[in-house]
Order: sequence, then C-alpha cells, then structure tokens
Amino acid sequence: MPALVYFKSLCNEFAMPLHLHDTFTRQLKEVRPHDGQSLRFYCCGPTVYAPAHIGNLRTFVLQDVFRRTVEANGISVKHIRNLTDVDDKTIRAANEQKLPLEDFTRPWITRFQEDCQSLNMLPPSEEPAATAHIPEQMKLIETLLAKGHAYATDDGSVYFKVSSFPSYGKLSRLDERELQSTVPEGPQDADEYEKADRSDFALWKGRKPEDGEVFWETPWGRGRPGWHLECSAMSMAALGSTLDVHGGGVDLVFPHHENEIAQSEACTGQLFVHHWFHCAHLMVEGEKMSKSLGNMYTLDDLTKDGLSPLIVRFVLLSGHYRQQLNFTFNALHAANEALRKFSQTLLRIIPRAEIDLATFRHWCRAPGDQNELFNESPLQNAWNLLCRDLNTSGAWGQLMKQRGRWEKEKDPGILQRDLQALAHLLYALGLEQLPFAPEEEKSEPEAPAEIQTLAEKRWQAKANRDFATADELRDSLKNKGWLVKDSRDGYTLRPATKS
Ligand code: AMP
Ligand code: ZN
Repeated sequence: MPALVYFKSLCNEFAMPLHLHDTFTRQLKEVRPHDGQSLRFYCCGPTVYAPAHIGNLRTFVLQDVFRRTVEANGISVKHIRNLTDVDDKTIRAANEQKLPLEDFTRPWITRFQEDCQSLNMLPPSEEPAATAHIPEQMKLIETLLAKGHAYATDDGSVYFKVSSFPSYGKLSRLDERELQSTVPEGPQDADEYEKADRSDFALWKGRKPEDGEVFWETPWGRGRPGWHLECSAMSMAALGSTLDVHGGGVDLVFPHHENEIAQSEACTGQLFVHHWFHCAHLMVEGEKMSKSLGNMYTLDDLTKDGLSPLIVRFVLLSGHYRQQLNFTFNALHAANEALRKFSQTLLRIIPRAEIDLATFRHWCRAPGDQNELFNESPLQNAWNLLCRDLNTSGAWGQLMKQRGRWEKEKDPGILQRDLQALAHLLYALGLEQLPFAPEEEKSEPEAPAEIQTLAEKRWQAKANRDFATADELRDSLKNKGWLVKDSRDGYTLRPATKS
C-alpha cells in the first residue's frame, strides 16, 4: 500500500468516536451512550465552604472538554455535577460564623458558578445539592438496611458493612490486606467509634452537639448524611441506576468512588458505572494544590490584574489529563504569549478567507459535522488526538503547527475550510473566544523577534532573581525603542514612543 494511502486509512480508522481511559479496566474504551441517545455523565462537584482553587477547577475544566468533545462528536450529554453543601467542613464553618447552613453555603455556590462561567465551562444540565436530596439518601439507607448491607449504631449513625460486598476494592484494586492497612487504626474521627469493622464507612452520621441545628429526623435517629452517599443518591435520581461515565479527581478513586460503587450496587443489584474518568492533580512545587496545604491559587488571584480567565483555562489544559501538571507563573505567561500570537494569525487570515469575524465566531458556537470537516483536512490529526483519550496539549500543538502555512496560504477556499475545522476544535477545547478582540490586538503592535527574545531573557532573569541582569536587559530594550511593563503574571511590550 502506498504510504499516503496507508496514512489516510490509518486516519480514517482513527477518525473515530471518542476513546477515553477507564480507571476500572485500566484501558482505553469507546465512550458511548448505552441507551443509544444521550450520554449519562456524572461528576463529583465542589464542597462549598471556600473558593475553589485552580486545581479543583482543572478537574472541572477537563470534564467540560470531555463533554464538549462528546457533543462535537454529535452525541448529546446529560451532565450532572453535584454540590456538596453539607459535610464536616461546611457545618463547622457555618457554625463558626453563626449562620444557618444554607446562608453560609449560598455565596460559595455563587462564587463557584461564577468561576466556572469565567472559565467558559458549559453549565451542567443539573447541579443538584446534597441538602435538597435527603429523602433520596434516606431511601437508599432503608434499602441497604433491609438487604443486610448496613447497620445502625446506638448514636444514630448507620454504617455500610464492607464485608457484605465481596467485590469492594475492585476499582482501586485494593485487596483485603491493603484495605485494612489503608484505613487508619482507631477511630478516624469521633463519630466513627462505633463501627464494627475498620473499613466500614458512614452512610449516616448521628447528631453531635457541635452540629448545632444541622440535622434531619430519620427512623434511626437525628443526624446528617455521610459524604459518599449523596453522590449515589443524586446520580441515580438524575440518571438512573447505571451511568455511562463518572468523573472526578484521582484522589476520589479511594475511598469515595469505591464507596459509591458498594452502596449503589448493593442497593440496585446492577452495574453502577460503565466508564470511570479520573483526572490527575494540579501540583505546585511537587505537592498537590490543596486548601489544607495552603499552596492554592484561586481564579481571582490570577486574573485580578486583568489577565483573561481564558489564559488560565488554556494553562489547565496544557498537559494530558492523566498526568500531573505543575502550575507556574512562567506557564501562565507563556500561555498568554501563545494565545496572543495565535489570535494575531487568526485576525490576519479571517479576512483573507473572505469571511468576517462574526461568521467565524458563529462557527465556533455551532460546530459542524466532524466527518465532513476533517475528511482529508490537515487538522484531522488535531481532532484525532483529542478523540484519543482527550490529548488536549497534542491537539493544540497540531494547531500551532498550522500557523506558518496559514500565513502563506493565498486560496480563500482552503483557508475557509481550515477555519471551519478549527472552529470545531476550538469549541471542543472551550477556547471559542479566540481570537481575542481585534481592538486589543491593534493597540499593541507585535515586537520584532529580537526584542521578544531580549524580553524573554529578562523575564527569565527576573524569575531566577538575577535582578542585575534583568535591569540591564530592560535598559537594552529601552535603547532599542521598547518599554516593558510587568504584571504579576507576565509582561507586555510597547513602543517607547507611546509613553
Ligand atoms: P472538593 O471541593 O475538595 O470536593 O474537590 C472538588 C474536585 O476537585 C474533586 O473532583 C477533586 O478530586 C478535585 N481536586 C482536588 N484537588 C485537586 C488538584 N490539586 N488538582 C486537580 N483536581 C483536584
Ligand atoms: Zn462524589
């Protein structure tokens, strides 16, 4: 077979439905709606007691790209993402502030939704809150008690009996011995002292004095749900007993998702999830970004000096979802540069393709049929990379490679076809706000390559705290007619004559 034909047949083979790694089988699996209609997709949402950090937001952005890519494949998605608005942390903070629980959580829910909107995430089909689904959670407990998978204790708590569910540990591949050593010796917290086995987990927590007014009446006593139960109750209420895809950060594999499987399958006797989708962590200097380690950045921290949230979204997508991503301000700065250059190319080629910006933006919002768009297109590789385990950075790399060719291309028809394919990809990546508005681009002419290299060296020197070199380079740039202005996230260059 001639090489080109072979390559094309490979591409056609890869012009495929989306394939995604499944944590359960540790293999790539085709993503498909098992009812033949829409994909039932459930994501564990935020705990609403503080602002989300960009690590949390990375997981939600990746889930958004997944959903968009499924949709761009022509499959509708029923996307459910819950709100954890009752747990130890929310109760403690609400009581400290002497606020009813819902008055305390409401502003954090709003803040989270605003962050998601700023990062251009599509709103989920439903965003159920745990406190709005107490009857569903009680019903699950009743069934588990009746089937002998759960037991109540004198303090009004109810525990899931792990020994009653032989396949417990199958997602995280923990055997009995590992399970016992993974769960710490002794009570993990005061309200778990009565459980019969170390690995049993709370479905319901009996009321403690420090819970204040946060409790519900049940047949087994006053109390509140354990954290794991809410996701089984809300996912099954919205999507039925079996979900197509269930997502979360990798820290949720054990125990949260393991417990979700146990309580759901013990209850219904049916498979709970076809496909498990876990995202690796965002790191800072080798450690997981987390509220408790105090190494977190919020979206506000990064955008308050005027940086577009789209740049943050882009950084969060700049590594494969199954690999940890290290967050740095240099990466933020590099992303800003990359998107600015890409925007400039787009603003140059859109008129040459004989369309206007509004038309391009419309294409981005209403992606076309991928079979037609990518057939024999130079952008097919980018699309295939995205469809093969959501390789966001690989897909972007393919797009950047097109810039040189586009700058030289004279044929409006070719440019138009490429822009249509590009619009499809930008929709899937959630970068359909590109190109940045032309007014912004016009206000600062692009510095020549030599100037950009000097400015880049200066930025590096500053990052290395070599301030003497950084100052020398600033002077040298000034002598060449360019001023450099720093912000927390990077710098901008403008001609000295403007000042
Ligand atoms: P939480 O608000 O703590 O319940 O977490 C919300 C989501 O963020 C969950 O899916 C977590 O697994 C995820 N998550 C927590 N920390 C990180 C991190 N550093 N990087 C990526 N995802 C994270
Ligand atoms: Zn969950």
